[in-house]
Amino acid sequence: MRVGVLAVQGAFAEHISKLEKSGVKSFEIRKLSDIPDSFDGLVLCGGESTVMKKLLHELNLFKPLKNMIENGLPVLATCAGMILLAEKTDNGESSCFGTMNITVKRNAYGRQLGSFRCTDNFNGTPIEMPFIRAPYVTKIGNGVEILSVHNDKIVAVRQGKQIATAFHPELTNDVTVYNMFLESI
Ligand code: GLN
Repeated sequence: MRVGVLAVQGAFAEHISKLEKSGVKSFEIRKLSDIPDSFDGLVLCGGESTVMKKLLHELNLFKPLKNMIENGLPVLATCAGMILLAEKTDNGESSCFGTMNITVKRNAYGRQLGSFRCTDNFNGTPIEMPFIRAPYVTKIGNGVEILSVHNDKIVAVRQGKQIATAFHPELTNDVTVYNMFLESI
């Protein structure tokens, strides 16, 4: 099994070490030639979604990755990654991949309360959830399953083989989210 981790910006290193702990080989995607003809799963990490979107286009990574996601490549997207997959953002910014039938609100918890940790259910299992200037989901469309709700806000969703969390599972020791991703591969 080979998992590609988008590594143009943000918290990709934490995902790589987390995958390693689960015994999964991963590789960094920084430029077009890093994308193999076939691989088994993709991680879109947290960071700054506007910067990642810009770099995806500048580095010509956008089209091949979008095609692969549309063709069913399993994806785990966290925080900014969730924003990259969303079809819409609340403030009307143009979408990035837009492959998930969700609307997200960026920096949804405000600047002051931007970062916090809590424990809540992910698909029925209580897990630790670190939020860092996180988005949440304000609207879901057809085919989207809700995996987590925290304080009445949707914070994790799945659509086919795409899993997106507003929080950072790579910053905890829990493997529940990774197990779901790896099972989808
Ligand atoms: N606030 C960031 C954004 O809007 C996301 C933050 C994160 O990934 N931790 O892109």
